[in-house]
Amino acid sequence: MSRTILRNAVLFDGRGNAGVPGEVLIEDGRIAAVGRLDHAGEAETIDCMGQAVTPGFIDLHSHSDLQVLDGRREKSAQGVTTEVVGNCGFSPYPCGQHAADLREFANGIFCGGAEWRFEGARDYLESVDRQSDQVGVFSLVGHGSLRVALFGNRQGALEARELDLLEGTLDDALAAGACGFSTGLMYAPGSSAPFDELERLCRVVARRDKLYATHMRSYSFGLIESIDEQLELARRTGCRLQISHLQTVGPKNWDRQRTALDRIERAREEGIDVEFDIYPYQAGSTVLTQFFPQRLLDGGTPAMLARLRHRDERRRLCEEAVSQMAQRWSDVFIVSVESEANQEVVGLNLEEIGRRRAVDPVEAAADLLIEEAGAVNIVSFNQSEDNLRQLLTHPLCSVISDGFYVKGRPHPRLYGTFPFLMGTVVRERQWMSLPEAVHKVTAKPAARLGAGNLGSLTVGARADLTIFDPAAVAGPATYEAPEQNPVGITATYRAGRRVAR
Ligand SMILES: [Zn+2]
Repeated sequence: MSRTILRNAVLFDGRGNAGVPGEVLIEDGRIAAVGRLDHAGEAETIDCMGQAVTPGFIDLHSHSDLQVLDGRREKSAQGVTTEVVGNCGFSPYPCGQHAADLREFANGIFCGGAEWRFEGARDYLESVDRQSDQVGVFSLVGHGSLRVALFGNRQGALEARELDLLEGTLDDALAAGACGFSTGLMYAPGSSAPFDELERLCRVVARRDKLYATHMRSYSFGLIESIDEQLELARRTGCRLQISHLQTVGPKNWDRQRTALDRIERAREEGIDVEFDIYPYQAGSTVLTQFFPQRLLDGGTPAMLARLRHRDERRRLCEEAVSQMAQRWSDVFIVSVESEANQEVVGLNLEEIGRRRAVDPVEAAADLLIEEAGAVNIVSFNQSEDNLRQLLTHPLCSVISDGFYVKGRPHPRLYGTFPFLMGTVVRERQWMSLPEAVHKVTAKPAARLGAGNLGSLTVGARADLTIFDPAAVAGPATYEAPEQNPVGITATYRAGRRVAR
C-alpha cells in the first residue's frame, strides 16, 4: 500500500470555505484522511509549509480532445487534473462514413492531422483511459461533429428520418459514457440548425441527466436573443444548461452585459438550472472563418475557395462580414497559418496586414483564407476589463481555459489560465478571494458535471490535488510569448501520483 502525507499545508476544500491549516493523507490513489493527523503512521512525507493544498483543478471547457491522448503537460503544469473536452460542437467522434469531412470540420480547433479516427464515444474514451496519463477526461458529444459525421458538411434543416438518426446517435454516445452534449451555433453546420432540432437533442440530454454546454449563436449584436433561445431550450426540455465562455463582444455591445445577466438570474429564480463560464482574459481565440457568414463553409473547403474566388459572391460575403463586425479589425490578430510564405503575418492584426498589402482589412482576411485553404487561427480582443470582472466574480461563473493548440502562437490561456487566476486575478487585482477562485475551478465545475466528490477534499475521493504557493503563483504567458511555464505551482497529483513538478 502506498501512503503519502502532505504536511503543514493550508487546506482549501473547494467549496469556497476559508483555508485551514492541516494535513492530507493519500492512500492508494485516494484521499484517506484530511485535517490534523498526528498519528498517521508510516508514510512518505511532503512538507507543504506556506503552500495551499486544493482539490485538483477542473478545466470545464477545453479543446485538448486530441492532445490529452499525447500526454501533453500544459494543463497538469497549471494544476489541472481534469479536462472537459468536446466543447463548442466539436468532438472527435462519431466518425462513420464522413471521417475526412469530420477532420476538415474540426482540425482548426483540434490542431489535428490526417490520421485520427474514433468510431464513437466508447472508442474515444477507451483511448483516453489507455493514453491520458496527465489528466482525467470528460467528453461532451459535439453537435457539429454529429451532423458532419452523419451527413457530411451540409447546412440547413434535416429531414425527419435524419433527425431520428441524429437523436439516436446522440443517445448512444451519452449511454456509452459521454458526459453531455455541446453546440457551436456560430460554426457551420451547427449554425444552420433550427430550434426544433436543438430541442429534440436537449430532450435526450435531459432524459440522461447530462450537461448541455452551448457556444451560442451570437455574443455580440445578437447576445440577448441567443441567451433567450438557450434558456427556452432548458425551460422546455429541463436540461442542465451551461452557457460557454459568456461575454459581450465588441465595444458597441459592452453595455448589453447587465441585461444578459438579468436574463440568466431571472431564469434561475424560475427554476432553470443554468450557469456559465469564462476564461480570465479579455481576448478570445478562434478560426478566421468566424468573421464571415457561415454559408461560406457550406460544402467544405473546395466550395469555400470557389466562393471567395467568385467576384460577386466574395463582395457580398465581405460586405456582410463588415456589417457583422463588432470589434475593430485592429483587435483581430493572426496567430497561426499553414504556409511558410505567410508566417510573417503571425502576430499582426488585420488592419496592419491590410495596410501592408494595400487592401481593406476584410479583403486581406478573404485573401488569407484562400492562400491558407481556410486554415487560419486568430486571437481577438473582445471584452472590456469591467465586464470581464463582472463575469468572473459572478456566483454562477466557473473559470475555464477554453485553451486550444495551434501551430504558431496560441492564446496564453492554454499555458496560464489557472496560475493567472490565482496570481493576477486574486492576489494582484484582488477581484475575488482565494477560496472563491479555488471553488470556481473545483467543486463548482464538478457539480455541473454531476461528478460526485470530484473537486473536493473529501475522504474517499480520488486524490487529485494541487499544491501551490499563493504568494508566488503566476501565469506569465503573454499574447506575444504564450509558451511560458507557470510559476508557483509546486505539484499536481493525479489519483495520488505526482504528475507535475
Ligand atoms: Zn466556443
